[in-house]
Amino acid sequence: MSVHSTSSDAVDTSARKAVVVFSGGQDSTTCLIQALAHYDEVHAITFNYGQRHSQEIAVAQAIAGELGVTAHKVLDLSLLNELAISSLTRDAIPVSSALQDNGLPNTFVPGRNILFLTLAAVYAYQVGAEVVITGVCETDFSGYPDCRDEFVKALNQALCLGLEKPLRLVTPLMWLNKAQTWALADRYGRLDYVRARTLTCYNGLVGEGCGECPACELRARGLQMYLADREQIQAQLATKVAL
Ligand SMILES: [Zn+2]
Repeated sequence: MSVHSTSSDAVDTSARKAVVVFSGGQDSTTCLIQALAHYDEVHAITFNYGQRHSQEIAVAQAIAGELGVTAHKVLDLSLLNELAISSLTRDAIPVSSALQDNGLPNTFVPGRNILFLTLAAVYAYQVGAEVVITGVCETDFSGYPDCRDEFVKALNQALCLGLEKPLRLVTPLMWLNKAQTWALADRYGRLDYVRARTLTCYNGLVGEGCGECPACELRARGLQMYLADREQIQAQLATKVAL
């Protein structure tokens, strides 16, 4: 176990039903693949907030169908687009990896994960799921404050209090780097599937993407790292996640 590992990183095999916050990207698709191997019922939930790459919804629907989830809920969240102005919600603002004055990249959508996880928890409540899984990651992501472990744990506590339910927010990728996330997909025999079918690119291109935006660069660098030394990265992964 890594020093960072906590109960919320681990797959809970005693739980029967899980809800996965699902965008059709590499990270959440890997979480979905893992969840399908460990839970009897897996519900995917996708939010339509008028994101820059609108085909994200169609990609998510296709993947959810191919992988065979119990149900896939697509929820309209256009109010987020109205309130939160970022390069992911406005075509007129180009995506940039440069940090703004507030220390965050302009892809940060304020409140996104607060809303996503809260609504996923309400959905979990409705379908009787004990677990909500999200692919947020603190390790090599862009420093989004709502991807931090501390935030997820605090919201988990608030949700349990507010819903009067023992719900758990599970973050399988929290301490993984991108190479290790590729290793996780590979462990479930889905490396090629995730490579070909998921959409991470900020310019909306499936698979390898545009190759130039920050999301493509991160994804490609992680894949190169993993393919260069599969064995070692699988060994690193084994120390970080309970499979
Ligand atoms: Zn791209």
